[in-house]
Amino acid sequence: MQSIAANLEAIREQIKAACIKAGRQPDSVRLIAVTKTKPAAQVKEALDAGQLEFGESYVQEFLEKSGDPILENSPIVWHFIGHLQSNKVRSIIDKVTLVHGIDKLSTAEELSKRAQQHNLQIDYLLEVNTSGESSKYGMPPDKLLSTAESLFKLPNITLRGLMTIASPDIESARREFRTLRLLLESLKKIAPHPQKLTELSMGMSGDFEAAINEGATMIRVGSSIFGWR
Ligand SMILES: *Cc1c(COP(=O)(O)O)cnc(C)c1O
Repeated sequence: MQSIAANLEAIREQIKAACIKAGRQPDSVRLIAVTKTKPAAQVKEALDAGQLEFGESYVQEFLEKSGDPILENSPIVWHFIGHLQSNKVRSIIDKVTLVHGIDKLSTAEELSKRAQQHNLQIDYLLEVNTSGESSKYGMPPDKLLSTAESLFKLPNITLRGLMTIASPDIESARREFRTLRLLLESLKKIAPHPQKLTELSMGMSGDFEAAINEGATMIRVGSSIFGWR
């Protein structure tokens, strides 16, 4: 295993190459370093190597890590990328920049309610179950457009795009990434703020190049940077 700094450098090169191959600008893809199960010291190491955006999946772990003294006063931008239950919204609301894992109207309503209480404006993504596997979280694609009307009306939160976790098989993953991109296009047609619907959070260590090729604007990479969990 190489150092975290070396791994980050390698990933950044791969992102650049994938962008060039897809005819995209290299700065059109943001790298979110996924640190679940990894200690705050490793977050610090990545931070010192110039990585600013980090993703966590579990509420308790996220709260402990983000509050760790070694990360105090650091300019970290936190993304919550895990499945978020309504009863946990409260504890993370004032600590995250973007919530990726909202997959129900009721959770979005809770997010809106807490954002109002804290006088915050929160950006979020809707998680879509593009593979149709019943074991996966995410809103079914065929529910997206009918739910969107209600989502758009919720105060203090802004839907910025879509997120998905693809199947392990790379050909299926490509199809699912494409599905997510097309869903975002459909969503823009009915949105009161289409110019704000810019984000596609898709692609992980094993498939981020395919995701970039299909239009990912954020990729979430863990094990290729920090090693196996
Ligand atoms: C763990 C996790 C990742 C990172 O996965 P790797 O395969 O380690 O890169 C990305 N997205 C989500 C939602 C995750 O839970």
